[in-house]
Amino acid sequence: MLWRGRRQSDNIEDDRSDSGGGGIGGGGGFQLPIGGRTGGGGSIILVILVVIAGWYFGFDPSAILGGGDGGLLPGGGGQITDNGGGGQGSGTAPANDEMKQFVATVLAETEDTWTGIFKSQGLTYEDPKLVLFSGQVRSACGFASAAAGPFYCPGDHKVYLDMTFFQELDQKFGAAGEFARAYVIAHEVGHHVQNLTGIMGKFNQMRQGMSEADANQLSVRIELQADCFAGVWAHYTAQKGILEQGDIESALNAAKQIGDDTLQKKTQGYVVPESFNHGTSQQRQTWLARGYKSGKLSDCNTMSGPL
Ligand SMILES: [Zn+2]
Repeated sequence: MLWRGRRQSDNIEDDRSDSGGGGIGGGGGFQLPIGGRTGGGGSIILVILVVIAGWYFGFDPSAILGGGDGGLLPGGGGQITDNGGGGQGSGTAPANDEMKQFVATVLAETEDTWTGIFKSQGLTYEDPKLVLFSGQVRSACGFASAAAGPFYCPGDHKVYLDMTFFQELDQKFGAAGEFARAYVIAHEVGHHVQNLTGIMGKFNQMRQGMSEADANQLSVRIELQADCFAGVWAHYTAQKGILEQGDIESALNAAKQIGDDTLQKKTQGYVVPESFNHGTSQQRQTWLARGYKSGKLSDCNTMSGPL
């Protein structure tokens, strides 16, 4: 990605010196925190999905952004984490200025793209903040360690990133490349778009009281949409002529490497589909590619139909 010399976002909060301590990893796979799920059954989730589908189809696709609650819903307090499984102690991340500049530039590119898309709908995009942290961080969604991976907190409209995750992405997950990293940021910003448009608020409401398996299914749909939104961003970024050979492939490879099935095979040797909450490698690649191909939000309806 030809990012050097381009605008860098002012919406970076560098909290790396504030925190410390190692994020000592544990858990496998992507997590959706905040439990409290009881009851719920297959029929209930079906009804709910139909409701969402209706909610979606009730609007002209181009009006998705204006639909529903029309903007900022308070976050339910849940956070969307996007870790591939944690594990490394981070702690003393050096102030990597070049990487910080890269992150600030990618963030600026997402600001420009989403501002334009919102504007085309007569809406105003509100930039998220991106917090760089080291080891551990406190957000409106609670306390998080780097092991939980990058995440977006709907409660404070901030993306949280410990940049050591990028090394992990490269070395542990086999997803090298600048644009793999850009995809991670764009995915989190995709959650912010979901928050602004009210999609995430509905998601957080709905998953309360669901069984874990049902909540996981719903989570997959939300995550794949964030992948699709990342693809939409990549589409417009490509139009600016700043993508390089292999960029899209590196993002698609990242989507593959962090698919639930691939991660579970790698970490435990077998897959438990009911526990998938981000989507399979195939699904993640498919939705990222779909957003990238058309650049249309209407192609990112993951809320109904087969994935
Ligand atoms: Zn996500």
